[in-house]
Amino acid sequence: MKKVRVGKLVLGNGRVYIQSMTNTDTADVKTTVEQIYRLEAAGCEMVRVAVYDMESARKVKEIKSRISIPLIADVHFDHRVAMEAIIHGADKIRLNPGNIGEKHRVEEIARCARDHGVPIRVGANVGSIKRRYLDKYPRYVALAESALDEVRILEKVGFHEIVVSVKSSDVVETVQATRYVRKRVQYPLHIGLTEAGVGYQAIVKSSIALGTLLMEGIGDTMRVSLTGDPVNEVKVARAILGSLGLKNVPQLIACPTCARVTIDVEKVARLLEKELMNIDGNFKVAVMGCVVNGPGEAADADIGMFGVKNDKVVVLEKGKPEKFFCSTDEAVEYLLEVIRKWKSGRKCG
Ligand code: SF4
Repeated sequence: MKKVRVGKLVLGNGRVYIQSMTNTDTADVKTTVEQIYRLEAAGCEMVRVAVYDMESARKVKEIKSRISIPLIADVHFDHRVAMEAIIHGADKIRLNPGNIGEKHRVEEIARCARDHGVPIRVGANVGSIKRRYLDKYPRYVALAESALDEVRILEKVGFHEIVVSVKSSDVVETVQATRYVRKRVQYPLHIGLTEAGVGYQAIVKSSIALGTLLMEGIGDTMRVSLTGDPVNEVKVARAILGSLGLKNVPQLIACPTCARVTIDVEKVARLLEKELMNIDGNFKVAVMGCVVNGPGEAADADIGMFGVKNDKVVVLEKGKPEKFFCSTDEAVEYLLEVIRKWKSGRKCG
């Protein structure tokens, strides 16, 4: 696998980095930087901004000077805008040489990117599938081959600091196309399901597509593409990586509750979830409603509690009973105290 440097990060080293994209006006530096701070605090490791003209390209310098994660400039059509963003400090450029036009323009960008040590991500989505491939192949192959065309254009001008992506809003198509590309190039891959939408369906679709690829070891950067506040993209991405053991994200175990429940599991779980948000750490916290499955799950967690009866609970820490028949409030206080100790010095990223 080829390694590609993006600012302070190196892609292709086995880690998967979380990427998101701002939805502010890039020329409005203050608002954009504020959103990037929120993304960074949530665990975003590299951020993309839309660079749509020369003015927004020049703002890259100011934005970059105020943030600490790599900044990617998303550029289309105009090679001068791409070069302006590179000159003003973009750590990576997202563009498709195919929509830049004549070869000499692509060569100019490639030369500029090489001189500044900046990689280029190329790719395709359903909107950019080439007709000639559609007539010949199944759609996922046409999608993948369209992305590979973009790779070939850069390779032809001697540029190899490339990251590749293929995205569709369809789960199966995204997975198939990404596998197809993985087999054919050694460049790092940016993975994601594009235009996933909003709500449960968007999260489920993204999780299945990304989860499938990640379990096969495919993906160097990832974006969960959700409509709305991009901070939610980062939260979902962290949850996906955490659930696959690809990132140290605390895991909260909570039972769904049933007629046997003796404590307000949902209230406690939501409180703990908030506390566990935005920190890294390989630990498990359990909240269980009764003695049926409670003792086992609580014992398996780093810290856990289960209801016994009449709002009385047992707390176990590292499998050992720490508190017997205390109130839920007292148990919650104890769990929060332990989690806060873990939290000190641990921020996500
Ligand atoms: S742990 Fe108890 S309350 Fe929770 S779902 Fe299982 S049986 Fe029901």
